[in-house]
Amino acid sequence: MQTIDKHQGDRISAFQAYIDQKIYVEHLLHYKKLNGSDHLWIKNFLRDDQQSFCAYCMRMVSDGNVDHVIPQCVKEQSTFKQALNLGKGCYSPQFIGQHRFKVSPQRMFHPHTLAYGNMVYSCRPCNTHKDADIVVPNFFFSPSGLSYKADGSIVFPKDALSTGMRTFLQSEILCLYRALWYYAVHCKYSYGGLRQVAKLSERKQFFEALQKAMPNSLSTKLNRKLGSLISDSGWNHFLSYRWFERYYSQMKNQP
Ligand SMILES: [Zn+2]
Repeated sequence: MQTIDKHQGDRISAFQAYIDQKIYVEHLLHYKKLNGSDHLWIKNFLRDDQQSFCAYCMRMVSDGNVDHVIPQCVKEQSTFKQALNLGKGCYSPQFIGQHRFKVSPQRMFHPHTLAYGNMVYSCRPCNTHKDADIVVPNFFFSPSGLSYKADGSIVFPKDALSTGMRTFLQSEILCLYRALWYYAVHCKYSYGGLRQVAKLSERKQFFEALQKAMPNSLSTKLNRKLGSLISDSGWNHFLSYRWFERYYSQMKNQP
């Protein structure tokens, strides 16, 4: 599974050099103190890290936001303690160890509003639904930690936080987009081919082919959305979940 590696040497040192200038030279210790061009630099940097995929729903977006895993509103003095002592698997020492946060975890989370380890690129709906919750980005989970089923639903690790965000990620429409990619992969369609499909009739044929492979319950859900899915905006929205093409392809090829 394609995940974020926050410990790639070049990326972290490039980010840190920029942030160190803000902290140690300009004495700007909070994300909110930075100006618009700094915010844009950070957003573009994180977007490049994630190839424009939202860290939570994995949708490809061009107009995303910078999201703070431990929210900005959390007071700085409590954040590292919070990061280590959530007690629900999120940033527990075990989590940090498993996910390669072993190297200087303090530096990765302090100051938390400017720390590379604490910032991700996310779509606006995820950013809004997450609000002040602390939600571990899906990108941070190892393949064994989180999985997606054929019907598009997410199997969260036992200790993942239960939040409004989780409900949002499990909403019927998001599950449907993921399931469509599952069946697209299994019916041997590819993103490269699908992005060329411009005729509404051909898009309809594609969905009808998937319906033959899927259970009736899912086919009924797809029928209800068919009209909007074949429109340009619906089709592009479906394509923007292309991360799941790679995910389901890898799952399919696993022994
Ligand atoms: Zn999202």
